[in-house]
Amino acid sequence: MSHSDPNCIFCKIVAGQIPAKKAYEDEQLLAFHDINPWAPVHVLIIPKQHIATLADVEPAHDAMLGAMLGLAPRLMKQLGVSNGFRTLINTGRDGMQEVYHLHMHVMGGPRPWARG
Ligand code: 5GP
Ligand code: ZN
Repeated sequence: MSHSDPNCIFCKIVAGQIPAKKAYEDEQLLAFHDINPWAPVHVLIIPKQHIATLADVEPAHDAMLGAMLGLAPRLMKQLGVSNGFRTLINTGRDGMQEVYHLHMHVMGGPRPWARG
């Protein structure tokens, strides 16, 4: 995986320059626990490649996007989530995106949750 942005916090996590509690890793994807969780289990699934937002994906990314979605239920099962979960991708300013490296939130665990 080539493209990386030296100023991007999630690229720094991919590169091991800042720590994160990893939940899953393969050649193209990384999953780690959100630093400010909304739910008992709250992970972020990201491509290792720097793609700023979901609005920036191209057809060549379709397989990677499918892998992100397909990983979510496997990861939730592995993390002990057995009663459902939410998936969320915030895109752009009006989509309330804060970190401009594509990521999918996956949240689960018993309610009540802090948010969401
Ligand atoms: P967004 O609003 O962009 O969809 O969500 C960004 C998420 O990234 C937030 O839930 C925030 O808590 C999380 N986050 C931001 N910086 C870090 C970090 O350095 N480490 C981890 N693990 N999560 C982060
Ligand atoms: Zn990045």
